[in-house]
Amino acid sequence: MLEIIEKLLVLQDRDRRVIRHRHQLSRIGPERQALLGQASGTKEALEAAKAKANSIESARKELELEAQTKEEQIQRYSSQQLQTKKNEEYRALANEIKGCKQAISSLEDQQLELLDQFDEAQAAIKTAEEEARSAKKLADEKVADLEKRESTMKEELEQLIQERTALSAGIDPPTLVRYERLLKFKGEKSVVGVDRGICGGCHVKLPVQIMISCQGQKEVVNCPNCGRIVYFGEGMRREQSE
Ligand SMILES: [Zn+2]
Repeated sequence: MLEIIEKLLVLQDRDRRVIRHRHQLSRIGPERQALLGQASGTKEALEAAKAKANSIESARKELELEAQTKEEQIQRYSSQQLQTKKNEEYRALANEIKGCKQAISSLEDQQLELLDQFDEAQAAIKTAEEEARSAKKLADEKVADLEKRESTMKEELEQLIQERTALSAGIDPPTLVRYERLLKFKGEKSVVGVDRGICGGCHVKLPVQIMISCQGQKEVVNCPNCGRIVYFGEGMRREQSE
């Protein structure tokens, strides 16, 4: 194989790894955000459970106050009963007292119902607290792993960039410019093999003259269809019919 092709293939391998490292590094930020988002979701659920318990408790206190008011009414009606001398008024007050007592009884039932709901809400808070705690622990661990991976990948990327700089210094400038332009537009498959006369990049059959130059291994040859640098290497078959 032409020496320059060998050098280009090594350079392309480094560039491929540089591209992949950069791609993976670009995904770390969103991944971290997603992890933190999951943990904050359980925290929100905990806040909601606490808010629910609070609203149940304040509803129960309102009922308590209402019952207290009814008790005060009963006392008022009772003292009015003691003062009145009219039977009709006395009965009317007795009716009012009866109504108040019924209302108090119903208010107490409602309070008991709310007490049950409050107990359930407290249990839900406990569960939500445990979930939030374990979600945070898990997220912290995963974020720590992610950061470790990020710093390793950054170091590796640095190393790869140094290697590719050193490798590119060994390639003649016109060929390097050609290669780098291809890298920019075609990505990590810029120097491709030719198998059975087919370009490994665009998969179009190469003209006979190009195949002859390729097999001659005397100069850098480009695919006339896609412009990629093509080479004929070991293990590649010569003709499509073979
Ligand atoms: Zn091609």
